[in-house]
Amino acid sequence: MPGILVVAEQMEGSLRDISAELIGAALSIKDQIGGPLRVLVIGATPDNLARGVNLHGVDEILTVTTPSDHFDPLIYEQAVVTAGGQCKPTVVLIGHTVSGMAYGASVAARLGSGFASDVFILGTADGELIATRAAYGNKVEMEMGFSGKGVVVLTLRGATFAAPDGGGSATLTALAVDMSGIEGVSTHVEYQEAPPSDVDITKSGFILSVGRGIQDKDNLPRFAALADKLGATLGCSRPIVDSGWLAKPHQVGQSGKVASNCELYLALGISGAVQHLYGMKHVDTIIAVNTDPDAPIFNVATYGTTVDLFELTEALERHFN
Ligand SMILES: Cc1cc2nc3c(=O)[nH]c(=O)nc-3n(C[C@H](O)[C@H](O)[C@H](O)COP(=O)(O)OP(=O)(O)OC[C@H]3O[C@@H](n4cnc5c(N)ncnc54)[C@H](O)[C@@H]3O)c2cc1C
Repeated sequence: MPGILVVAEQMEGSLRDISAELIGAALSIKDQIGGPLRVLVIGATPDNLARGVNLHGVDEILTVTTPSDHFDPLIYEQAVVTAGGQCKPTVVLIGHTVSGMAYGASVAARLGSGFASDVFILGTADGELIATRAAYGNKVEMEMGFSGKGVVVLTLRGATFAAPDGGGSATLTALAVDMSGIEGVSTHVEYQEAPPSDVDITKSGFILSVGRGIQDKDNLPRFAALADKLGATLGCSRPIVDSGWLAKPHQVGQSGKVASNCELYLALGISGAVQHLYGMKHVDTIIAVNTDPDAPIFNVATYGTTVDLFELTEALERHFN
């Protein structure tokens, strides 16, 4: 029985957006790879969560009941390996999230599958799966094929694939998973909610991002006000967060957020280190403002200027007053 197996992700009993995005990604290759499309739901009350993944194109929902909703990578690994062993899917899709990264590679090792992480384009050529991911510190994009592999496990980047429209009519099947070997191996201590933030870099279409070039924390309100005036989300490079000038959700880059839906990125006083480029170099229109003509940000910029960022800010403030 081939097909595609999607692993739904939930956090403390609530489905995460990535679950529907994975289903959308699976649907985009279902005709070429072949069905059925199954979704694996793992949790204390998986039947409740199953409603949220019963989306257009899903054929079957497999549920695994666990003692609690706390995430445990060993339980996920065991459940996915069991489902993989029974359903023999051609492709297994997992979110490239903190949770997915904790068990995706070990699932691939145990299934003896092909594997690629942080995939952001999924396609096929002559019926074979092609996954696109970045390499060499995000300097190149590479298309990966998996010839000779009976099964391929992929972790997919979030906020990249569109969730399907409309509900589905999937059947529900409870899956028995032998957890005896992993019981008591780990203990859940505490779940800490991230501090609330009204900033979502991954969803913003226009980001005004500031770097160390703004020089001082006291200058920040000025850029926040400008972003507000322009209808942009305020982003930043990592040193701004490390200095405590802005909260972590504002950070763009490898250890921050990827500007997945951004169409316009205005970088003020950002040098363009590879870790920052990771989060924004794909954006259609990048405007870089940096007094150093050799700053690497200019390698990815659509438009660039070596004017002092404070001069430019003043001009923008005047113009949009
Ligand atoms: C494991 C790891 C993960 C990391 N993750 C991230 C990440 O997610 N995001 C991230 O951003 N970084 C990340 N970094 C840090 C990264 O390597 C850089 O140190 C950081 O991006 C530099 O930030 P910056 O461009 O603001 O500062 P700088 O590199 O100091 O650049 C400041 C720029 O401002 C320009 N400038 C100064 N004054 C003006 C002016 N008046 N007008 C115009 N331009 C001016 C300068 O020419 C300079 O190019 C990571 C590093 C590591 C090791």
